[in-house]
Amino acid sequence: MKSKVIVALDLSSEQRVMDFVERISPELCGLKVGKELFTALGPRIVEVLVEKGFSVFLDLKYHDIPNTVERACAAARNLGVWMVNVHALGGSEMIAAARRGVGMESDRPLLTAVTVLTSMDAAALRAIGIDVAPETLVKKLAGLAQSSGADGVVCSANETRELTSILGTKFIKVTPGIRPLGVSNDDQKRVMSPIKAIKEGANYLVIGRPIIQAEDPVGVLTRVIDDITGVA
Ligand code: C5P
Repeated sequence: MKSKVIVALDLSSEQRVMDFVERISPELCGLKVGKELFTALGPRIVEVLVEKGFSVFLDLKYHDIPNTVERACAAARNLGVWMVNVHALGGSEMIAAARRGVGMESDRPLLTAVTVLTSMDAAALRAIGIDVAPETLVKKLAGLAQSSGADGVVCSANETRELTSILGTKFIKVTPGIRPLGVSNDDQKRVMSPIKAIKEGANYLVIGRPIIQAEDPVGVLTRVIDDITGVA
Protein backbone atom coordinates (compact mmCIF):
# COMPACT_ATOMS: atom_id res chain seq x y z
CA MET A 1 0.00 0.00 0.00
CA LYS A 2 1.60 3.23 -1.12
CA SER A 3 -0.83 5.64 0.51
CA LYS A 4 -0.58 6.44 4.21
CA VAL A 5 -4.30 7.03 4.55
CA ILE A 6 -6.88 4.36 5.39
CA VAL A 7 -10.50 5.48 5.18
CA ALA A 8 -12.73 3.79 7.78
CA LEU A 9 -15.90 2.75 5.95
CA ASP A 10 -18.06 2.92 9.09
CA LEU A 11 -21.29 2.57 7.13
CA SER A 12 -23.95 -0.10 6.79
CA SER A 13 -25.29 0.69 3.34
CA GLU A 14 -23.70 -0.82 0.24
CA GLN A 15 -25.00 2.10 -1.78
CA ARG A 16 -23.13 4.61 0.38
CA VAL A 17 -19.95 2.54 0.25
CA MET A 18 -20.17 2.33 -3.53
CA ASP A 19 -20.99 6.04 -3.93
CA PHE A 20 -17.68 6.77 -2.22
CA VAL A 21 -15.41 4.09 -3.70
CA GLU A 22 -16.56 4.70 -7.28
CA ARG A 23 -15.18 8.22 -6.95
CA ILE A 24 -11.71 7.24 -5.72
CA SER A 25 -8.87 5.03 -6.92
CA PRO A 26 -6.91 2.36 -5.02
CA GLU A 27 -3.73 4.48 -5.25
CA LEU A 28 -5.38 7.21 -3.16
CA CYS A 29 -6.07 5.26 0.06
CA GLY A 30 -6.71 1.93 1.75
CA LEU A 31 -10.17 1.06 3.06
CA LYS A 32 -11.04 -0.21 6.52
CA VAL A 33 -13.94 -2.62 6.90
CA GLY A 34 -14.95 -2.80 10.54
CA LYS A 35 -17.58 -4.56 12.58
CA GLU A 36 -20.51 -2.40 11.41
CA LEU A 37 -20.01 -2.86 7.67
CA PHE A 38 -18.91 -6.50 7.96
CA THR A 39 -21.90 -7.41 10.12
CA ALA A 40 -24.32 -5.55 7.86
CA LEU A 41 -23.07 -6.78 4.50
CA GLY A 42 -20.79 -9.78 5.17
CA PRO A 43 -17.56 -10.85 3.46
CA ARG A 44 -18.96 -10.12 0.00
CA ILE A 45 -18.30 -6.39 0.49
CA VAL A 46 -14.64 -7.18 1.21
CA GLU A 47 -14.43 -9.24 -1.98
CA VAL A 48 -15.98 -6.42 -3.99
CA LEU A 49 -13.44 -3.89 -2.66
CA VAL A 50 -10.51 -6.29 -3.18
CA GLU A 51 -11.70 -7.00 -6.74
CA LYS A 52 -11.66 -3.26 -7.38
CA GLY A 53 -7.98 -3.26 -6.39
CA PHE A 54 -8.26 -1.63 -2.95
CA SER A 55 -6.02 -2.55 -0.02
CA VAL A 56 -8.53 -3.63 2.62
CA PHE A 57 -7.85 -3.53 6.34
CA LEU A 58 -10.25 -6.01 7.94
CA ASP A 59 -10.68 -4.50 11.40
CA LEU A 60 -12.52 -7.24 13.29
CA LYS A 61 -10.11 -7.27 16.25
CA TYR A 62 -10.16 -11.03 16.81
CA HIS A 63 -9.93 -12.12 20.46
CA ASP A 64 -10.63 -15.81 21.02
CA ILE A 65 -8.85 -19.11 21.64
CA PRO A 66 -5.75 -19.52 19.44
CA ASN A 67 -7.23 -22.16 17.12
CA THR A 68 -10.30 -20.03 16.34
CA VAL A 69 -8.20 -16.92 15.71
CA GLU A 70 -5.79 -18.85 13.48
CA ARG A 71 -8.67 -20.07 11.33
CA ALA A 72 -10.34 -16.66 11.21
CA CYS A 73 -7.05 -15.11 10.05
CA ALA A 74 -6.69 -17.81 7.39
CA ALA A 75 -10.23 -17.01 6.21
CA ALA A 76 -9.28 -13.29 6.07
CA ARG A 77 -6.21 -14.20 4.02
CA ASN A 78 -8.43 -16.11 1.60
CA LEU A 79 -10.57 -12.99 1.19
CA GLY A 80 -7.46 -11.20 -0.08
CA VAL A 81 -7.26 -8.53 2.62
CA TRP A 82 -4.14 -6.42 3.02
CA MET A 83 -4.26 -6.16 6.82
CA VAL A 84 -6.09 -7.94 9.63
CA ASN A 85 -5.96 -7.38 13.38
CA VAL A 86 -6.37 -9.00 16.78
CA HIS A 87 -6.56 -7.82 20.39
CA ALA A 88 -3.10 -8.17 21.96
CA LEU A 89 -4.94 -8.95 25.23
CA GLY A 90 -5.59 -12.40 23.76
CA GLY A 91 -1.97 -13.19 24.65
CA SER A 92 1.18 -14.44 23.02
CA GLU A 93 -0.15 -17.86 21.97
CA MET A 94 -3.16 -16.30 20.30
CA ILE A 95 -1.08 -13.71 18.42
CA ALA A 96 1.35 -16.40 17.25
CA ALA A 97 -1.65 -18.45 16.03
CA ALA A 98 -2.93 -15.41 14.14
CA ARG A 99 0.47 -15.09 12.51
CA ARG A 100 0.29 -18.72 11.38
CA GLY A 101 -3.21 -18.03 10.06
CA VAL A 102 -2.15 -15.15 7.82
CA GLY A 103 0.54 -17.40 6.35
CA MET A 104 4.15 -16.99 5.28
CA GLU A 105 3.86 -15.84 1.67
CA SER A 106 5.35 -12.47 0.73
CA ASP A 107 1.89 -11.18 -0.22
CA ARG A 108 0.26 -12.39 3.02
CA PRO A 109 -1.90 -9.93 4.98
CA LEU A 110 -0.13 -7.78 7.54
CA LEU A 111 -1.05 -8.63 11.12
CA THR A 112 -1.58 -5.79 13.58
CA ALA A 113 -2.65 -5.88 17.22
CA VAL A 114 -4.79 -3.49 19.23
CA THR A 115 -3.12 -2.82 22.59
CA VAL A 116 -5.55 -0.94 24.87
CA LEU A 117 -8.72 0.51 23.42
CA THR A 118 -8.46 4.30 23.36
CA SER A 119 -11.89 4.40 25.01
CA MET A 120 -10.43 2.81 28.17
CA ASP A 121 -8.75 4.89 30.87
CA ALA A 122 -7.09 3.86 34.15
CA ALA A 123 -10.44 3.65 35.98
CA ALA A 124 -11.97 1.44 33.29
CA LEU A 125 -8.95 -0.88 33.45
CA ARG A 126 -9.15 -1.05 37.25
CA ALA A 127 -12.83 -1.96 36.99
CA ILE A 128 -11.89 -5.10 35.04
CA GLY A 129 -9.12 -6.01 37.47
CA ILE A 130 -6.14 -4.51 35.63
CA ASP A 131 -4.37 -2.18 38.05
CA VAL A 132 -1.76 -0.84 35.63
CA ALA A 133 -1.48 2.59 33.99
CA PRO A 134 -2.80 2.47 30.40
CA GLU A 135 0.57 3.73 28.99
CA THR A 136 2.43 0.93 30.77
CA LEU A 137 -0.02 -1.67 29.49
CA VAL A 138 0.21 -0.28 25.92
CA LYS A 139 4.01 -0.71 25.95
CA LYS A 140 3.80 -4.19 27.47
CA LEU A 141 1.20 -5.39 24.95
CA ALA A 142 2.98 -3.80 21.97
CA GLY A 143 6.20 -5.63 22.97
CA LEU A 144 4.25 -8.85 23.37
CA ALA A 145 2.67 -8.36 19.92
CA GLN A 146 6.07 -7.87 18.35
CA SER A 147 7.71 -10.85 20.03
CA SER A 148 4.71 -13.04 19.08
CA GLY A 149 5.01 -12.25 15.36
CA ALA A 150 2.71 -9.28 14.70
CA ASP A 151 3.83 -6.75 12.10
CA GLY A 152 2.62 -3.78 14.09
CA VAL A 153 0.04 -2.24 16.37
CA VAL A 154 -3.05 -0.07 16.20
CA CYS A 155 -2.32 2.74 18.64
CA SER A 156 -3.00 6.36 19.48
CA ALA A 157 -0.81 8.84 17.60
CA ASN A 158 0.27 10.06 21.04
CA GLU A 159 1.97 6.71 21.62
CA THR A 160 3.79 6.32 18.29
CA ARG A 161 7.02 8.12 19.17
CA GLU A 162 7.69 6.09 22.30
CA LEU A 163 6.67 2.79 20.69
CA THR A 164 9.05 3.51 17.79
CA SER A 165 11.90 4.14 20.21
CA ILE A 166 11.23 0.84 22.00
CA LEU A 167 10.22 -1.40 19.09
CA GLY A 168 11.99 0.16 16.09
CA THR A 169 10.87 1.90 12.92
CA LYS A 170 9.95 -1.31 11.07
CA PHE A 171 7.17 -2.18 13.53
CA ILE A 172 4.06 -0.64 11.94
CA LYS A 173 1.96 1.93 13.79
CA VAL A 174 -1.60 2.36 12.55
CA THR A 175 -3.27 5.34 14.20
CA PRO A 176 -6.95 6.24 14.46
CA GLY A 177 -8.18 9.40 16.20
CA ILE A 178 -6.96 11.64 13.39
CA ARG A 179 -8.68 14.96 12.82
CA PRO A 180 -7.78 17.45 10.08
CA LEU A 181 -7.76 20.97 11.53
CA GLY A 182 -11.18 22.61 11.73
CA VAL A 183 -13.10 19.31 11.85
CA SER A 184 -15.19 18.04 14.81
CA ASN A 185 -13.53 15.58 17.22
CA ASP A 186 -16.76 13.52 17.40
CA ASP A 187 -16.33 11.06 20.31
CA GLN A 188 -12.54 10.77 19.96
CA LYS A 189 -10.92 12.12 23.12
CA ARG A 190 -7.27 12.38 22.13
CA VAL A 191 -6.96 13.54 18.55
CA MET A 192 -4.06 14.61 16.35
CA SER A 193 -3.79 16.29 12.94
CA PRO A 194 -2.61 14.20 9.97
CA ILE A 195 0.68 16.11 9.59
CA LYS A 196 1.53 15.85 13.30
CA ALA A 197 0.70 12.13 13.40
CA ILE A 198 3.03 11.42 10.46
CA LYS A 199 5.76 13.48 12.12
CA GLU A 200 5.26 11.43 15.30
CA GLY A 201 5.99 8.28 13.30
CA ALA A 202 2.57 6.91 12.32
CA ASN A 203 2.83 4.68 9.24
CA TYR A 204 -0.87 4.70 8.43
CA LEU A 205 -3.64 7.11 9.47
CA VAL A 206 -7.15 5.74 9.94
CA ILE A 207 -9.72 8.43 9.21
CA GLY A 208 -13.46 7.80 9.29
CA ARG A 209 -16.11 10.42 9.96
CA PRO A 210 -14.12 13.49 8.86
CA ILE A 211 -14.12 11.94 5.37
CA ILE A 212 -17.16 9.73 5.00
CA GLN A 213 -19.57 12.13 6.73
CA ALA A 214 -18.24 15.19 4.85
CA GLU A 215 -20.26 16.94 2.17
CA ASP A 216 -17.31 16.45 -0.17
CA PRO A 217 -15.57 13.24 1.02
CA VAL A 218 -13.18 13.06 -1.93
CA GLY A 219 -12.22 16.71 -1.43
CA VAL A 220 -11.36 16.13 2.26
CA LEU A 221 -9.42 12.95 1.40
CA THR A 222 -7.33 14.64 -1.29
CA ARG A 223 -6.62 17.62 0.98
CA VAL A 224 -5.35 15.27 3.72
CA ILE A 225 -3.15 13.47 1.19
CA ASP A 226 -1.79 16.79 -0.15
CA ASP A 227 -1.08 17.92 3.43
CA ILE A 228 0.98 14.87 4.35
CA THR A 229 2.78 14.47 1.02
CA GLY A 230 6.45 15.12 1.59
CA VAL A 231 6.12 15.08 5.41
CA ALA A 232 8.61 12.56 6.80
O1 C5P B 1 -14.59 8.38 12.56
P1 C5P B 1 -13.22 8.17 13.15
O2 C5P B 1 -12.11 8.83 12.34
O3 C5P B 1 -13.17 8.54 14.60
O4 C5P B 1 -12.99 6.60 13.01
C1 C5P B 1 -11.92 5.94 13.60
C2 C5P B 1 -11.98 4.49 13.25
O5 C5P B 1 -10.90 3.82 13.92
C3 C5P B 1 -13.24 3.78 13.70
O6 C5P B 1 -13.53 2.79 12.70
C4 C5P B 1 -12.89 3.11 15.00
O7 C5P B 1 -13.58 1.91 15.20
C5 C5P B 1 -11.40 2.82 14.78
N1 C5P B 1 -10.61 2.74 16.01
C6 C5P B 1 -10.50 3.78 16.92
N2 C5P B 1 -9.74 3.63 18.06
C7 C5P B 1 -9.06 2.50 18.28
C8 C5P B 1 -9.15 1.46 17.34
C9 C5P B 1 -9.93 1.62 16.21
O8 C5P B 1 -11.09 4.83 16.74
N3 C5P B 1 -8.29 2.39 19.34
